[in-house]
Amino acid sequence: MSADDLENSFKILKQTVPLLIKHKISAEPTNYAIWYTYASNQSPDLNQAVDSAIDSYNAISEARALDMYRTHVADKQEVSAWQLRRSIDAMITELSQTVKDTRHETNGFRDVMDKSLDGLKKVESEGFSVEETMSMVRNLVKEGQKIRNSTLTFSAAMANAEKEISDLKEKLEVSKKEALVDALTGLNNRRYFDSEFATAVANGEASLILLDVDHFKKFNDSHGHQMGDLVLKAVAKKLKSSCRDGAEAYRFGGEEFAIILPVSNQGRACHLAETMRRTIEKIQVKQKSTGKVVGDITASFGVAVFAGSESAGNLIEKADKLLYEAKRLGRNRVMPIS
Ligand code: GH3
Ligand code: MG
Ligand code: MG
Repeated sequence: MSADDLENSFKILKQTVPLLIKHKISAEPTNYAIWYTYASNQSPDLNQAVDSAIDSYNAISEARALDMYRTHVADKQEVSAWQLRRSIDAMITELSQTVKDTRHETNGFRDVMDKSLDGLKKVESEGFSVEETMSMVRNLVKEGQKIRNSTLTFSAAMANAEKEISDLKEKLEVSKKEALVDALTGLNNRRYFDSEFATAVANGEASLILLDVDHFKKFNDSHGHQMGDLVLKAVAKKLKSSCRDGAEAYRFGGEEFAIILPVSNQGRACHLAETMRRTIEKIQVKQKSTGKVVGDITASFGVAVFAGSESAGNLIEKADKLLYEAKRLGRNRVMPIS
């Protein structure tokens, strides 16, 4: 990459990262490629597609992003998304280093300047007429001072750029994490679930628990949405603290949660679901304004275990069917009965 290319890429990158953050887009390679291309204005069709998606839906769904990537980015420029991501990372690292080095050099130059000015001041004591020497020295001191000031400014600008880069990096890290975490409960979100569950199934070992809070609409209607939110937070906390041996809890959506166990073990999964069911029964939430304590919170569960050939989607469907069977049989129970 030439210095010009590098500088230009960096300029585009500086516009890309805030776009990812603004639109709460996860820093995945495909998204990087789309938004990098968007910021570079290289593909008017892509810019139009992105603008119209943001206008209409205020977001870009994963499917749409993939479609945009295939249509506007991948074909035309043969960008390897991973390469792009890696080169952006490398560029940030390289620039940070360059900035650091330059700042070091600038500081060195300033020291030299200070020393030579000291030397020049000695000319005064070595035979020139006082007038001449003083005039020369004054001039040099003035010039030197100018350079010194400009290097100071340059050095400050460099320090600033360095800080900007590290801020961007930090924001990018945060946005990467935020894209996988549910804001209300702090649990991993559906997006994270989808990727982790697909991985577990691909690895050949997985059990899935799906649960749905019972009569939650009624709860919201009787106690208010805020109390409803407190329930979801409390449920999330209990699920998380009940997880053992590599089990992970996720907010699946609304009042639905999912647990992935890293092993195919029906007995263990049903046992864990039963423990969680009993823990949820004990939840009580307190209304701040009135001090009123509300309980009677229950959830229904469906458990499905990977047996060697199903897809992740099949397993979710199976657990979901069993969950609704649990609802049909009267709620507050785990299906299948183990
Ligand atoms: P069922 O026992 O059959 O599951 O009945 P339900 O009322 O729980 O199911 P339904 O799907 O009819 O309603 C789900 C409710 O969950 C409606 C929706 O307002 C509420 N809900 C979803 N997400 C949130 C949230 O983030 N906060 C609050 N307070 N309520 C939510
Ligand atoms: Mg539901
Ligand atoms: Mg429900």
